[in-house]
Amino acid sequence: MPIAVICTGTELLKGGCCNTNMFHLGGRLCSLASPPVMELSIGDHPDELCFALSCALQQADIIIVSGGLGPTSDDITLETVARFFGVKLVEVAELKEKVEKRWAMRHKGHCPKFQYKQAMIVEGGKYFNNPVGTASGIAFETVYGGKKRFICLLPGPPAEFETVLDNGMLEDISAHTRKSCTTSGFFICGIGETQVARAVEGLFKDMPLEIAYTAMPGGTKLFISGENPQTVDAAIRQAHDIFGSKALDINCFDLPSALLAKLKKLGLTFACAESCTGGLAADSFVSLPGASEVFNGGIVSYANQAKMDILGVSSEILEQYGAVSPQCAEAMVKGVCKALKSNCAVSTTGIAGPDGGTPEKPVGLVYIAASVNNLTAVKELHLHGNRKMIRERTVANALQLLWELLDAPENNIC
Ligand code: ATP
Ligand code: MG
Repeated sequence: MPIAVICTGTELLKGGCCNTNMFHLGGRLCSLASPPVMELSIGDHPDELCFALSCALQQADIIIVSGGLGPTSDDITLETVARFFGVKLVEVAELKEKVEKRWAMRHKGHCPKFQYKQAMIVEGGKYFNNPVGTASGIAFETVYGGKKRFICLLPGPPAEFETVLDNGMLEDISAHTRKSCTTSGFFICGIGETQVARAVEGLFKDMPLEIAYTAMPGGTKLFISGENPQTVDAAIRQAHDIFGSKALDINCFDLPSALLAKLKKLGLTFACAESCTGGLAADSFVSLPGASEVFNGGIVSYANQAKMDILGVSSEILEQYGAVSPQCAEAMVKGVCKALKSNCAVSTTGIAGPDGGTPEKPVGLVYIAASVNNLTAVKELHLHGNRKMIRERTVANALQLLWELLDAPENNIC
């Protein structure tokens, strides 16, 4: 069954917010080997939603709608969808209780009538728990144009959208996309989508498999799907072997998580010394639960004086080669291992732009270093994009360098 997505929210059209729900959903649907056939962003108006529904239903049988499930009068999704398909709304006692409890926790007095809107679902439909908000996810089957359709409604706030999707709704969507399908995948660090496609496509030409790719900052996600789990398993292993240490473990898609698990397993500690990335590498670790077992800390040494005072980078290096140099990256990584008593570290120093570039050292020139038990690797990067993209790509490359160094035979630690 093809899938179409409708994202409601006038702010999406006015540049008031970035459509991260589509970003999240697209990745998840890709992992089911069922990327949507279309996405429509619309304002918070019933007419626009009805128009979008009729367009989407021409192309798809599964319709996923994001947003507009709040309690206020501008939240029109549920009533509009019910009217459009001619289905009834019913109140669910458990949801009513949840609405009342949540109201009582935050306010005094009776829960106003309009809040009970969030206790309603489509008759015969299913609701999905939302532990981070009051709007539940709702899904129902219906018939439209003589065909069976599956309609899913999710709250708009990204934390709620992602929680509802990942807490059961995706499984239901998956069950409707095809009868039985196994999907497996992994993340390949530092290799673009086209190169990954070129490397694997010929391998599975005449096999009953679907291959999907998702380009990410710092690499590519590869997914293989098929009806026979053994065939998928054999194919994913074959594909995994091609990429060697650039591939994260099978079914692992996130480099910081993979690094955290590996460092934990090896009993190593980690630190970062960051100039142009200003704490982003540290943040990618601290965002992960359990980071404290491995992560000792990060030093943002932006000015030369900080590089000298905190990390012990010598004035000779800074005068002779400059802060954006392989020598400085190396001294930073060694300095932070010492300062934060860590066996592993990464460092970053570069020109993120838009200003500050010269013909010799243009915007996008970045040096990164990684160190594992005193074995150090330094790499020169020429990155493209705006300041944000250069900084994000620098972090992805630095973590990747550490990942590869952990696998280096000289390290003798595995
Ligand atoms: P509530 O109104 O109770 O917060 P809701 O389900 O009605 O929940 P919306 O009103 O559609 O949700 O959206 C609430 C907020 O969530 C928006 O103002 C916006 O900040 C964010 N949001 C909505 N849709 C998206 C989206 N597609 N991507 C990212 N953020 C979104
Ligand atoms: Mg709302």
